[in-house]
Amino acid sequence: MARVAIIGAGISGLATAHYLGRQAEVLVFEKESAPGGTMRSQREQGFVMERGPNGFLTNKPHALALAAELGCAGRLLPASDFARKRFVFSGGTLHRLPESPVQFLRSRLLSVRGRLRVMAEPFAAPPPSQDESVAGFARRRLGREAMEMLIEPMAAGVFAGDPDQLSLASCFPRIHELEARYGGLIRAMLTLRRERRKAGRREGMSAGPGGTLTSFDTGVEALVEVLAGRCGGNLRLGCAVESVSRSAGKYRLAVRSAEGLAECEADAVVLAAPAFAAGGMLRGLDAGLAEELERIPYAPIAVAALGYEAAALGRPLDGFGFLVPRLEGRRILGALWDSSVFAGRAPEGKALLRVMVGGARQPQLARLGDKELVALVKEDLRACMGISAEPVLTRVFSYEKGIPQYLVGHGRLLESITARLRALPGLYLNSNAYRGVSLNDCVRESKATAASAAGDAQGRAGHRFSEAT
Ligand SMILES: Cc1cc2nc3c(=O)[nH]c(=O)nc-3n(C[C@H](O)[C@H](O)[C@H](O)COP(=O)(O)OP(=O)(O)OC[C@H]3O[C@@H](n4cnc5c(N)ncnc54)[C@H](O)[C@@H]3O)c2cc1C
Repeated sequence: MARVAIIGAGISGLATAHYLGRQAEVLVFEKESAPGGTMRSQREQGFVMERGPNGFLTNKPHALALAAELGCAGRLLPASDFARKRFVFSGGTLHRLPESPVQFLRSRLLSVRGRLRVMAEPFAAPPPSQDESVAGFARRRLGREAMEMLIEPMAAGVFAGDPDQLSLASCFPRIHELEARYGGLIRAMLTLRRERRKAGRREGMSAGPGGTLTSFDTGVEALVEVLAGRCGGNLRLGCAVESVSRSAGKYRLAVRSAEGLAECEADAVVLAAPAFAAGGMLRGLDAGLAEELERIPYAPIAVAALGYEAAALGRPLDGFGFLVPRLEGRRILGALWDSSVFAGRAPEGKALLRVMVGGARQPQLARLGDKELVALVKEDLRACMGISAEPVLTRVFSYEKGIPQYLVGHGRLLESITARLRALPGLYLNSNAYRGVSLNDCVRESKATAASAAGDAQGRAGHRFSEAT
């Protein structure tokens, strides 16, 4: 039976192993002592603190379908109704994001002029022929104010990124498609609503990206635990792959563990580690490919989890949380009110907030020591939410290379990487660095990668890079 080596046991590597199933002998190498990558849930003193993602949206089917296949659909935990209520901090208060056109017209988040400019969206200039930035798109279609108050904080919330640098087509392909297909966002919204009505489906508008945010009873790591459990002894923890080489049609992995350096031979290899790590491993095989992979930058991000006595907060946590636009001049990117969104994230009478710091906006802040970081978070929570109470628990999870940035030109870079991979049959790249950072995107890409790698393992020619979008 052919052997497929998977490097990295984040959701991308583990889901690929699951989808490969029994079609090949699968070995998964993970450099850390625990699987999951950024998808880890830390349980302490009755709090469940997500180190990275707190869930996935059901507007795409991939993560839900995976949970069902794994037999853990019964453990799914949908967010409470509070998740619909999202806020943006501006001018000293939290403004609720509108959920309907009427609410939008009444909202004071944008000036009257700013709101009128958004309503003029159908008359916006057509898109440029070259890859456009998220900010360029937003200014062109929605105006400067909507860009600064809505789109910039959203780009920080999803990618921890700078919208002037991020590519609209690569970061938000659905929005890019809607413009191309319907000629604008308002036109798209109206047409899609008409189509849904015709089909007898009534769906309300939402302040968020749509679908229901969903996690698992014990935290997102539940999915990792089930996937890792299925790998059994074929998941090799504490095994860092240093290089991948090729001879006589086989790949050879140099694997460093506590026992020293060992070699592993495989017929196909799935690199499910971050792009910069994959680049390092492939330098000897194709220096040009390594250089291209290392050109995908990552934004540093720190997640500060703060547990409080709920009664001491001085206000109810009646929502999903809030984002802070850059021009507010604060140091946090936003805060998620996790214990209001998901049941069981804090003990009775306590509340849990997770605050995001750093990103492309202020990368140096993500590198602060825990004490300094918690101090600035408390200061900003006081300014944004009026919280003056001392937390009963604080934990900081920092990532120097947290979230990959799909910069303008990312699509071209992927084309070039794909072309280089054609010379390396049986070698696959599959992580959040290429075609989507959400858990849903990672699961979708993993399924496509597994199908191709299984094809290789069974002697068919598969495509070299997931092309399922
Ligand atoms: C703070 C934060 C919040 C987020 N929130 C959400 C959210 O709410 N919803 C959502 O959908 N997404 C969210 N995301 C994005 C999502 O979590 C990630 O895109 C996804 O988990 C990435 O999975 P991955 O397997 O591709 O990469 P990773 O999780 O980075 O896994 C890569 C693995 O490769 C291993 N590795 C690296 N080098 C080697 C080597 N040499 N040898 C062996 N192993 C190696 C690493 O140790 C790691 O375990 C968030 C991300 C962050 C950072």
